[in-house]
Amino acid sequence: MKSIRYRISISWIFIFLILGFYQNACAPSVRTNSSAEATPHPGKPAPKKNVILLIGDGMGLTQISAAMFRNQNRLNLERCPYIGIHKPASADDLITDSAAGATAFSTGHKTKNGYVGMDAFGRAHETILERAQRLGFSTGLIATSTLQHATPAAFAAHQPDRDSYEAIAMDMSRSGCNLMIGGGKKYFDRRKTDDLVLSDSLEAKGYFVTDYFENEFSSYRLPQVDKLVYFTADGDPLPASKGRDYLTRATKVGAEFLHRIRGSKGFFLMVEGSQIDWAGHANETDYLIAEMLDFDQAIGAALDFAQKDGNTLVVITADHETGGMAINPGSRSDSLVVSYSTLKHTGSLIPVFAFGPGASSFAGIYENTQIYFKIKNFLLDNQ
Ligand code: MG
Ligand code: ZN
Repeated sequence: MKSIRYRISISWIFIFLILGFYQNACAPSVRTNSSAEATPHPGKPAPKKNVILLIGDGMGLTQISAAMFRNQNRLNLERCPYIGIHKPASADDLITDSAAGATAFSTGHKTKNGYVGMDAFGRAHETILERAQRLGFSTGLIATSTLQHATPAAFAAHQPDRDSYEAIAMDMSRSGCNLMIGGGKKYFDRRKTDDLVLSDSLEAKGYFVTDYFENEFSSYRLPQVDKLVYFTADGDPLPASKGRDYLTRATKVGAEFLHRIRGSKGFFLMVEGSQIDWAGHANETDYLIAEMLDFDQAIGAALDFAQKDGNTLVVITADHETGGMAINPGSRSDSLVVSYSTLKHTGSLIPVFAFGPGASSFAGIYENTQIYFKIKNFLLDNQ
């Protein structure tokens, strides 16, 4: 009696199991079909696109050659399949400075030396970074100078004087830029032109603000936030030869950071090897080569990211050449005989290297302002 009841309940359990399996197997597909019929096809989402623009300030072909010779004749730059040349002159001088040079890239306008984010008449123009930000892309700036220095400033500030660092810091704090890594903490926090503490304003706007003193960058894991400022120095960061080592890692984790928060759009990231120019002004070859090789490592990190991602355009160029550098007869790869013609910038044409989707449009010879239009055409058209 007991065993019969047991057998009956086992059979019922078996039947329930079969019914359950049948329902699970069939019901979801039926439901999926009916919902697909009920709602119109949403259409293909626009492909996500990213741009990493790397600017080697003061990086002409001789600077590239010197670094290549010092590095067993190889550079990451060589991974770029498309090469072009731009004409770097500014609106008021055949010899551009970094402010006008970066403003040509960031706004598509030739401007006067000294102006950032403004045309030659002093009119502010929305930069590629600000436009991308407005259209829902995530954006970032990384530099080995202060963040307020002319090159990064031209992407997120609008001032007629590149040296007005505190006004530039104010503009940058309002830019909405998601990620800023570079020096210049003092222009945010210990200001002379007013009593504002811009780190506090940034935090009020949702930024996570930290620095080299609180967190060592080489072991720092970027927090899961949408907006981050990391100050690498109070004023100017050190030269690479004196221990500065954040640019490559910042490029890698910076691209990943912007990639994570980009939502349905992509990102725009500008990375500057700032001190190639400073070494050129000083006519110091070892300083220059160390800065070039540091920048080339960052280029490698950007190209690795782009290679893996498949939707990232990487553009590498300079604003101008610095020093009139020459590699002279008697040079060997391990002992270069170098001379310089000036402590200032020169007017020679500047190479452009491109990798990834949209890279082929960078072949040819064109004005520096075309860099802006080529990036805009790739990243922001149809937005
Ligand atoms: Mg610069
Ligand atoms: Zn310079």
